[in-house]
Amino acid sequence: MTEKFMKESRRHTVVIGNWKMHKTIAEAKSYVSALALFSNHCRVHIGLAVPFTMILTAAEVARGSPISIGAQNVSPFDNGPFTGEISSQMLKDAGASFVILGHSERRRLFLEDDEVINKKLKKVLAEGMRAVVCVGETLSERESGKTEIVLLRQLEGCFQGIKKEQMSDVIIAYEPVWAIGTGVVATIDIVKTVHRLCRQVIARQFGESIAEAIVIQYGGSVNPENAVDLLASQDVDGFLVGTSSLSLESFCEILKNSSA
Ligand code: PEP
Repeated sequence: MTEKFMKESRRHTVVIGNWKMHKTIAEAKSYVSALALFSNHCRVHIGLAVPFTMILTAAEVARGSPISIGAQNVSPFDNGPFTGEISSQMLKDAGASFVILGHSERRRLFLEDDEVINKKLKKVLAEGMRAVVCVGETLSERESGKTEIVLLRQLEGCFQGIKKEQMSDVIIAYEPVWAIGTGVVATIDIVKTVHRLCRQVIARQFGESIAEAIVIQYGGSVNPENAVDLLASQDVDGFLVGTSSLSLESFCEILKNSSA
């Protein structure tokens, strides 16, 4: 179980960078060592979801710092004859303490549905890691008034059969698909409405106290400037950051602005 995303009675701010399929091991080393120095001045919990090949190195460099290293995907299976797959046990062994699940790129390009995300979630939690479960509507779903129904289906599907006590190892990332990598950030009103909806759904499934405690991040074209306004809302508990996490400078700026 990771000690770095500490469990506290109040919600904490968690900012996670998602590097997607970028960087080399050498680049990861120098980024993480510089971030480790910077992170001591931050009051937010910091995570970096790096490519599989960099987990071991990044976790070694991050050791002793407040940075958690995570993965961007995991197999729904345990170790065994699954060519090309990487199990939860392997990720933990390499030094990952969390895994991003259900990112819209995995849903869209690799056809992952809520059922498979749910299987992966169970493996991650059973291994004692944390999971960042991504949900969010496409532009056409929003424009046809289906946002609520989509979010409901995703949340119920992803959390099917998860026990109440496991939910403290879960973070929800609301990532409207139309805001990811587009430079179009969701309005504060949209983010507030959806984050409240997520909390209501979690309250129905797991009870009020779990809904109150769960960290709900926003993701989608977050940058150092818009981070300030988004975080001013009580409903936003941090960010999942793609593009702006690739540059150490802009990621540190987001962390600084989130710590204010
Ligand atoms: C993401 O991929 O999770 C993401 C939020 O990307 P970006 O910040 O580039 O929109």
